Amino acid sequence: MFASKLPHTGISIFTQMSALAAEHGAVNLSQGFPDFEIDSALTKYVHEALSENQVQYAPMAGRIDLRSAISEKIKAFRNIEINPDSDITITSGATQAIYTAITAVVQPGDEVILFDPAYDCYAPAITINQGIPIHLKLVHPTYHINWDEVNQQVTEKTRLIILNNPHNPTGTVLQKSDFEALEKLVTAYPSLLILSDEVYEYIQFEGRHLSVLDFPNLRARSFVTYSFGKTLHVTGWKIGYCIAPPFFTAEFRKIHQYLVFCANNTIQYAIMRYLNHTDLNGIATMYQKKRDHFLSLIKTSRFKILSCFGTYFCLLDFSDISTENDVDFAKRLTTEFGVAVIPISVFYTDQTDHKIVRICFAKKEETLTNAALKLCQI
Ligand code: PMP
Ligand code: GLN
Repeated sequence: MFASKLPHTGISIFTQMSALAAEHGAVNLSQGFPDFEIDSALTKYVHEALSENQVQYAPMAGRIDLRSAISEKIKAFRNIEINPDSDITITSGATQAIYTAITAVVQPGDEVILFDPAYDCYAPAITINQGIPIHLKLVHPTYHINWDEVNQQVTEKTRLIILNNPHNPTGTVLQKSDFEALEKLVTAYPSLLILSDEVYEYIQFEGRHLSVLDFPNLRARSFVTYSFGKTLHVTGWKIGYCIAPPFFTAEFRKIHQYLVFCANNTIQYAIMRYLNHTDLNGIATMYQKKRDHFLSLIKTSRFKILSCFGTYFCLLDFSDISTENDVDFAKRLTTEFGVAVIPISVFYTDQTDHKIVRICFAKKEETLTNAALKLCQI
């Protein structure tokens, strides 16, 4: 036997709820993954990659043709220059990028600020590196950041602040004023670094997505993580990338090369070909239609719908339906009513329960209609 490095960690809620959904034949709106077909052009490029025999190791940092394609997409989307050679690393999904970035900077005893409800992979990566997670709360029910509180919490010991924008699980997006507050903070604390998880950058429903990359003072001290799983509807491919300034990227790659060495080359080739021929800007409109379709159907239900500005998740308040805790309610919704959802308290270190569950609307119209009919019967 040996001492656990993560004694308080169990099986993730996504695995648990997807298993419960399968066991009970429930419509699975819990774990975030699309159930619709991917673009046939992307499939064609996978076949092309195989016929071109693109099956051996990629370069450690990723194919340079893919990194150049990413750089061009950023230039078109944000009008900024990102050097594909020194600033972009292709990873095996955003989860690996996040773990690698945290490992690159967090020393034992360093404090890392994150905001609850927080996506599940941040805190364990901090703990494994013997950092100290400092959990602040987004302000319920709008889930904005309380910058006064952040300013009070930051000290010389704070090494990293983790942002997630658009935000999973709440669907909020950061505003210009948030970035201005952050700029002030990093000016006061020059050793403070940023990890900005932006896997849903293409899924924002009003206005263009603002990234830390858009603010030179922030970009100079940030790791920014992305996921093709989210952008191209291929969560099972586990491929993403990290953007960071040259020194940050060099340190990131020291870990990356011994964690995975390189990400899947066949898939990198296919995505490179796809990015060179495809406009990604329609993604938000496609998801907005799905969101609006689903929300219009459950308008007459007893759930209260919270605002959703980005991601493919939205929150439903069930306090008019039940006083159960949200985990029990989510389980009962799955087993008795046939719709699997995610309880939000699991994303809080203190299990704060506002009687809210998350649904994923990255689904075919009929899946959403079927789920909505069931939710309206409660
Ligand atoms: N960050 C957030 C906020 C996510 O929702 C996810 C899930 N896609 C990830 C990171 C991990 O992405 P990947 O599947 O590419 O590892
Ligand atoms: N990102 C997905 C979600 O939020 C889950 C990914 C996973 O299962 N680890 O539902």
